Amino acid sequence: MTYNKYTHFLMYEEGEEYDTTYRAGTRAPFSGIYYCEACGGSIVSIGSQPLPSQEHHPHTPAQGSIRWRLAVKSHYA
Ligand SMILES: [Zn+2]
Repeated sequence: MTYNKYTHFLMYEEGEEYDTTYRAGTRAPFSGIYYCEACGGSIVSIGSQPLPSQEHHPHTPAQGSIRWRLAVKSHYA
């Protein structure tokens, strides 16, 4: 989950990067906020740097592995 107070700082944008699931440890395609599809936890990542690894946070067996999705893209790294 991500949080904000003023939505005028967020701009709607189409893009397949928002619909793509990234495995733990792969390079973040953009700087911004990513959330884990399995548990909803969110992180900040810098573009071209690795997304957090599978050991970043625990999951139940039912949740499975960490799967990152881009929630909010930033202008600059
Ligand atoms: Zn998770």
